[in-house]
Amino acid sequence: MSIAVVGSNMVDLISYIDRMPAEGETVEAPNFTMGCGGKGANQAVACSRLGSNVTMVTRVGNDIFAENTIRNFQDNGIDTTHVLTTEATSGVAPIFVDPDSKNSIIIVKGANAHLSPQDVDNAREEIAKCSLIVLQLEIELETVYSTIELGNELGIPVLVNPAPASPELRLDKIRGAEFVVPNETELSLLSGMPVDDMDDVLKAAQVLLNVGIRNVIVTLGRKGAVWVHEGGSTYVDGRAVDAVDTTGAGDAFIGCFSHYWVETGDIEYAMRMARLYASDSVTRHGTQTSYATGEDFRGRLA
Ligand code: ADP
Repeated sequence: MSIAVVGSNMVDLISYIDRMPAEGETVEAPNFTMGCGGKGANQAVACSRLGSNVTMVTRVGNDIFAENTIRNFQDNGIDTTHVLTTEATSGVAPIFVDPDSKNSIIIVKGANAHLSPQDVDNAREEIAKCSLIVLQLEIELETVYSTIELGNELGIPVLVNPAPASPELRLDKIRGAEFVVPNETELSLLSGMPVDDMDDVLKAAQVLLNVGIRNVIVTLGRKGAVWVHEGGSTYVDGRAVDAVDTTGAGDAFIGCFSHYWVETGDIEYAMRMARLYASDSVTRHGTQTSYATGEDFRGRLA
């Protein structure tokens, strides 16, 4: 069971501050932590911890963050043959969190913006051995589109997570995806329709099906997720938990969905496992640090 994740990696630089600085002001942060993130890397880590063989296709910079990111992939059992080095800074995300958990985030794409269609094509031999390609939008859209084409050419299904929401994403360019997995905000932007209730979700998902996308899976936060397809829709309800930190919940869902779909080919089952895995992750702080290993996760289900 192999999965190729083509996407981003970031180093989160989190300062816990007493209050946001005003313009021109310097404030002291009593605490600081560094963590591995980026949507591509998060999804790869979730798949790999659950037991999939994961190949990561990404670019890191030529700085001190790169070594940390590569070590993190390796510690999580991810194949780093196609983790390429770039004469640029690594992707970083300086994050400021105040005592009310309000945050300000700056995303520096850095090396991620250099991941090219050619880089992905150079990994075609590895990708050809995989059962699924997983994509998000923290890399250039040209690379997203060409990777979908490569998947179609090789006969390998492609999952597109259209996050972060991008007004430039062209629906006709992702029609070759087997799965598109947005949250409600991303679905609204993609379909050009308001998404306020389940009726809206179904109508907006239909816009995606109309261009030829086969399966639309919409994550609904604590309400769970719904799968919309030609034959109808299947709703998987949420699981009530004491949520302490929902960052990275969508990535946990996608990583887990991908793992179980590749293992079983059963979309509804993979969604049920994914909502359990994602709802478990929100009970702990952090992004990758909140993702359970397969052993822990299955132990908790038993
Ligand atoms: P994103 O993080 O991309 O915005 P969602 O907020 O839709 O994605 O969350 C993805 C999945 O995580 C949901 O389908 C659900 O299974 C789980 N989840 C998210 N927030 C909660 C919550 N507060 N309680 C329980 N599960 C949650």
